[in-house]
Amino acid sequence: MTINFIDLKAQQQAIYSQVMERIQTVLANGQYIMGPEVKELEARLASYVGARHAISCSSGTDALLMPLLAYGVGPGDAIFTTPFTFIASAEVIQLLGATPVFVDVDPQTFNIDPEALAAAIAGLGGSPKTAHLRPRGIIPVDIFGQPADYDRINDIAKEHGLFVLEDAAQSFGASYKGKRACALAEVAATSFFPAKPLGCYGDGGAIFTDDDELAAVLRSIRVHGQGTHKYDNVRIGLNGRLDTLQAAILLVKLDIFDQEVAARQVVAQRYSESLKEVVKVPFVAPECTSVWAQYSVLTDHREELQAKLKAAGIPTAIYYPLPLHLQQAFTSLGYQKGDFPVSESLAERIFSLPMHPYLQRQDQEKIAAVLGG
Ligand SMILES: *Cc1c(COP(=O)(O)O)cnc(C)c1O
Repeated sequence: MTINFIDLKAQQQAIYSQVMERIQTVLANGQYIMGPEVKELEARLASYVGARHAISCSSGTDALLMPLLAYGVGPGDAIFTTPFTFIASAEVIQLLGATPVFVDVDPQTFNIDPEALAAAIAGLGGSPKTAHLRPRGIIPVDIFGQPADYDRINDIAKEHGLFVLEDAAQSFGASYKGKRACALAEVAATSFFPAKPLGCYGDGGAIFTDDDELAAVLRSIRVHGQGTHKYDNVRIGLNGRLDTLQAAILLVKLDIFDQEVAARQVVAQRYSESLKEVVKVPFVAPECTSVWAQYSVLTDHREELQAKLKAAGIPTAIYYPLPLHLQQAFTSLGYQKGDFPVSESLAERIFSLPMHPYLQRQDQEKIAAVLGG
């Protein structure tokens, strides 16, 4: 038996006939763009998350980009986010000509450190590099499936008149103080990339908000800035729609999602029990549940442990080997090694183990035996 890093095959076997049925309905109707499944999915997503509006879209990256477009983010704007994330969190800022201002992460949760965030906002005017910038917004990232500290972040945002865009690409299905991820800030973005906790069979994403006006603008941006009819364009937008086929597939996956989230908790607990003496296992804050997009551990012997696992046929991955402030794409921002010591240290010591709802106890026992041996 091979151990998969993520096992989409096992999931597909569990839902195959339902998926085929849903796909056949789409083919029979022929409404490939914005068909009835898209509306149905948006209603299900909004009610799951507890948000007034869910606006499906073409990817998690577009789900981040579209709110920034709606807010008119552009040159001269500073948007705060962390360097310990996937490129998309900061890429969308730079794409609009605004400036990503990185803030280091908390060493326990790997999410944006609220103290450091407050300091970065206060310090913007004090540095010649950033004195010309206007603070506009914050993009906290719910890394590996655990929400950031939104009470603190939203307070800081309010104090400075900033928007908060939750990057919930990895945290759909998680919670913070009893509220679901994607409902923790004024607007949130998630991804349905196949490997995410709720994934489709291609690219997809969704935006969540309680704000009726913002939702209307986002729906317009999703179709080229459409106004009252198809050839009336009132703003610059993009082609950001979710395919009807992907919506149909997501509807089936949503039916088993709660079961899968529960299975992920069992898998994570088993890992943490068996590995706590061998590596630094993930910390979940008492006010949070994680949806375990990744199960990531810290060690000073990463190369050795990864090699042992590889020899035993067990796949691992490193999220993320290079923090964003040290990526070539962001050289223009002028950051240097040493600027964000927590993120840099994590990048050197972290790696992720196989994590999916279908991981078997005996496979986890084997992984623990290899790591401990
Ligand atoms: C996956 C991911 C994205 C982008 O989602 P896509 O659907 O791949 O565009 C953005 N932010 C984070 C933190 C992610 O993990």
